[in-house]
Amino acid sequence: MKGSGMTNNTRQEAQHFILINGVITDGLSFVLENGALEIRSGKIVRIGTSADFSGEKTKKIDLGGRLVLPGLVNPHHHLYSALATGLAPTGPTGDFQQILENLWWHLDKSLDEESIYYSAMQGLMQSVRYGVTTVVDHHASMSAVGGSLNIIKKAYETVGIKGLLCYEISDRMGEAALQSQIDENIKFWTDTRDNDRIQGLLGLHANFTLGEKSMEKIAKQKPTDLPVHIHCGEDAADLRYCRDLGYEGPVHRLKAFGLLSKDSLLAHCIHLSEADHRLLKESRAWVISNPESNANNRVGVMDLNKIPKYLLGTDGMTGNILGTMRSHFLLRNGKVDHAPEILFAYPAEMLRRCFPESGTLREGGSADLAVCNYRPVTPVSPENLFYHLMFGVQGKEMFMTLAEGKILFSENTFHTLDEVRINREIRSAVKRLYGRYHA
Ligand SMILES: [Zn+2]
Repeated sequence: MKGSGMTNNTRQEAQHFILINGVITDGLSFVLENGALEIRSGKIVRIGTSADFSGEKTKKIDLGGRLVLPGLVNPHHHLYSALATGLAPTGPTGDFQQILENLWWHLDKSLDEESIYYSAMQGLMQSVRYGVTTVVDHHASMSAVGGSLNIIKKAYETVGIKGLLCYEISDRMGEAALQSQIDENIKFWTDTRDNDRIQGLLGLHANFTLGEKSMEKIAKQKPTDLPVHIHCGEDAADLRYCRDLGYEGPVHRLKAFGLLSKDSLLAHCIHLSEADHRLLKESRAWVISNPESNANNRVGVMDLNKIPKYLLGTDGMTGNILGTMRSHFLLRNGKVDHAPEILFAYPAEMLRRCFPESGTLREGGSADLAVCNYRPVTPVSPENLFYHLMFGVQGKEMFMTLAEGKILFSENTFHTLDEVRINREIRSAVKRLYGRYHA
């Protein structure tokens, strides 16, 4: 594999400094005008007003009145899609199955170790630009399964953010390949169980790409405390497939195989039966809505009345969570209930199991922060913050992104990696990837 970006430990040394003159909020309970944050050894050690720190000699960084948020969380992404911008499908894309077959499944079969790494780098760097400091990835690379999650882990370490990783198991490549996909998930999860930045999940592509025998095989080998991450009821075909097999729907089928637990991540949940909705509520699994992707694939929209508590993901479309929320808000005619919880409270709750200090902005917490390129001139409160995000921040790139107290990105520049060199390496890897894709 090319590129020293992969082997260099580019994390900055832990620093001690104070961010002053920010409009600081945890997104939920407080907004502090002319606020300041003292950061030491990767943590927020003190929150106050800039005046509280006036006598301090410690290095200060003036944020110029910009809005400061907790580092954002993307609970459903496909980093492998990051090099597909502008890539033409190889056949018709009239329905969901054709979109999968003629674009995504063709692309993921073309990925090798080099392009897995560089697509992860591209996707993670874009996420950092938009203030995202935790990315949950759902990966597929059918010609390079074993070790693929470790390659992606190296990209996370180079960029310097947290994540949950998994390989999306499916029947697409036959029975022998299925076992290698199960092994990849379980090995990675086992190896990273105590890691405080990157951990594993059990990735399943979807019910409709897993036959009964495969589901049995997965259920038999799944460690009890390993949660699944799956596309569930994305297209009507998924519900139809489960019903044809005698189940009441995709959630019911997961439950029947013992694959539904309170920490599972279920992306989409558009086409579900009434029984599915009942089981979902009882399970307390996390539902992730991906409105931009759903619109792009023309698969329908999730019923927010039936699923009021959900997370918001990008599903490989972009790395931009606030931009996705803005699309969601507009697609729903300017009405999204519980928006602050969806952006800030629920992701922190979801992460508590593995990264208990993340997803929040509080004293003692990890200094994962997104400093928006937005200086509010009208009053900001927890009640109206969402409208400042929608109409002020507008899903634009951040002024500064910090993870564990390190400034990863500010003023359009990465500080812990050489973006120009990495971009050159990415462009070179793309040529080889596209050569295989079009072959
Ligand atoms: Zn997805």
